[in-house]
Amino acid sequence: MRPTTGWRADSATRTLRRAALERRDLRPDDIAVRVEYCGVCHTDLHALRAYESDANGPLVPGHEFTGVVTEVGGAVSGFSPGAPVAVGNIVDSCRVCRMCRAGQENFCREFPTLTYGGPDRQDGTTTLGGYSREYVVSRQFAYHLPAGLDPAAAAPLLCAGVTVWEPLRALGVGPGSAVAVAGLGGLGHLAIKMATALGATTSVVSRTPDKAGEARRLGAQGLVVSTDSEQMEAVRDRFDVVIDTIPAPHDPAPYLRMTAMDGTLSHLGHLGPVTVDTLDLLIGRKKLSSAGSGGRSSTAAMLRFCAAHGITADIELLPSSEVNTALERLEHNDVRYRFVLDMSDLA
Ligand SMILES: [Zn+2]
Ligand SMILES: [Zn+2]
Repeated sequence: MRPTTGWRADSATRTLRRAALERRDLRPDDIAVRVEYCGVCHTDLHALRAYESDANGPLVPGHEFTGVVTEVGGAVSGFSPGAPVAVGNIVDSCRVCRMCRAGQENFCREFPTLTYGGPDRQDGTTTLGGYSREYVVSRQFAYHLPAGLDPAAAAPLLCAGVTVWEPLRALGVGPGSAVAVAGLGGLGHLAIKMATALGATTSVVSRTPDKAGEARRLGAQGLVVSTDSEQMEAVRDRFDVVIDTIPAPHDPAPYLRMTAMDGTLSHLGHLGPVTVDTLDLLIGRKKLSSAGSGGRSSTAAMLRFCAAHGITADIELLPSSEVNTALERLEHNDVRYRFVLDMSDLA
């Protein structure tokens, strides 16, 4: 085994503590990555808050990171030591089911192997995430980080970025599309940047007007205040695609009403059960959809697109020793728009 260091959950305090970790020895298909930067995702916060014991394996969060290849397995081609790479929130899948064959490993029928907290498909051990100095991953689930993308600000593209990219592409967003993005956080700010770069006109939907300047800075034409009934009525049936990034249970009806005829409301991430009055779908033949994460080919395409358009996340970079502060501030939405941890203090 390969010794490394990382930030592991302590069940008594539900905080992360620096700990010695072990990575597997390289399989023929594996690469070893020195993790340089890892984004802090809402999923990490939820995993830590739900963490009770090591019964299901240790918890080391982190599933959007960039780094440098340090070693490659005997059967690896296409990656060599020194190459900048990126890894997202899935690290394996069955590779043969209908979803995998369609390039949607994120929807694998056998459930994809998550970057942390999932059982490894070969040895059954629990995967440990990117809040760590080293990660060992199959080259099939590592991506070349294009030159020109800042490796710290690019890290959040690997979870937040691809999660907004897939529905934008699948729903055909391009020149002439009108797109609204509900919620201006880690996902939302990337949705605005990507949809604008795809040629759409974009608007932010927010509970308060105070982010109007930020919305325009990110490329949006304007901001719709969701608590203002006049403004909501004014955008009725307006948007071809509404990307809903609000991470807590809520009524989809106001967002369906702003969706255009034959348009789609896409909620990102797992919202749980919702109640929908089908009249809100019937009037305008509207569609309700959901999405999360991305397959290998669209992750690679997203990175190329972001490099071509100069898109990265707006981040606040912290030394990894401040990970508990980052998680606490994320819980209170006190970040514009993504924390990224600098792992160099784990040398
Ligand atoms: Zn994530
Ligand atoms: Zn599969």
